[in-house]
Amino acid sequence: MTRTFTATLQPLDTTIPDPALIVLIGAAGSGKSTFAATWNPSQVLELDAFRAMVSDEAGDQQATADAVAALRTVLEARLTRKKTTVVDATNCERAVRAGLVQAARRHGVPAVAVLMGTPVSLCVIRQTARTPDRAVPADTVRAQHTAATTAFPGLRGEGFDHVVFADQLHRLEPLLQRASDTRRADLGWDGNPGLGSLLLVRRVFGDAVLPLWRWAEGSTLAGGDRVAEITLGADRLILALRENVDGQGDYGFDLLTACPVDDECTAPAWAPAHSVTTLLDALTGHLANAPDIVCTVHGDGDDQEADAPEDDLQVPYADEAA
Ligand code: GDP
Ligand code: MG
Repeated sequence: MTRTFTATLQPLDTTIPDPALIVLIGAAGSGKSTFAATWNPSQVLELDAFRAMVSDEAGDQQATADAVAALRTVLEARLTRKKTTVVDATNCERAVRAGLVQAARRHGVPAVAVLMGTPVSLCVIRQTARTPDRAVPADTVRAQHTAATTAFPGLRGEGFDHVVFADQLHRLEPLLQRASDTRRADLGWDGNPGLGSLLLVRRVFGDAVLPLWRWAEGSTLAGGDRVAEITLGADRLILALRENVDGQGDYGFDLLTACPVDDECTAPAWAPAHSVTTLLDALTGHLANAPDIVCTVHGDGDDQEADAPEDDLQVPYADEAA
């Protein structure tokens, strides 16, 4: 589609061929990374991410030269393979853009400049939402914005095959398509098994524990409720799935922990595990004094009439869960 951009009488282009080298151009806070996230993560080379890779700090300006070198190495490898690639950096300097255009040319891949049209005032305001190590000073943001705006009329002359405004592109669909595909796969609607009972695990504890999670089928440790383990190296957490929490019919997890009443007690005691923070607290010793731990022998310490334990619950619980 071609329309006229009245400010410059240049044709308004929205073409992004495939493959293409897509060069985002815009100040910090102009929305480059948000826009870049509409492509597959493997297609996006984000300079901040390369800074973090080489220095552990995305905002470490001292690391820029090494980060650029690493980014360019990956870019070369991708262009060699004719893979569509998005370069997510300010790209406000002409020399930087020239290097990118040359790389695209060498590999016969069209170069597309995508200009972020965000007002400079908004770019500056957005810095306040960033952590101090990521926030770019207002003066720098203004200079970047001016450089990007000034560059616009000359971008075709610099060798870009297409010059496109981000706010003329429809990128919500690919973003929602990927999110939908992921969701359908999780639910097993794509013909594969899906996450099944791990959906609840993920909702309560997040993604990080999923690969470490294993149901201990047949375990009687939790009085017939399903038992699971989270194991990694020398660490092991044991949980029970409760299907009627507080008699309300809700699903939830309890975490196996030490008896809050008697140091010598080896019977299972359970602490409600509401989130991944409960798991962390258990590992760091911050769970010990939680008020809602209930021992299967001693109750919660206030209630001495807790049910007597079943015999099999006396077995040391680490072995029993296995
Ligand atoms: P960058 O510094 O150019 O990479 O800017 P970011 O992509 O990090 O954008 C900064 C913030 O602005 C984001 O976290 C979003 O909250 C917001 N933002 C940026 N672009 C958009 C957009 O197109 N739509 C919406 N709704 N918010 C945006
Ligand atoms: Mg960014």
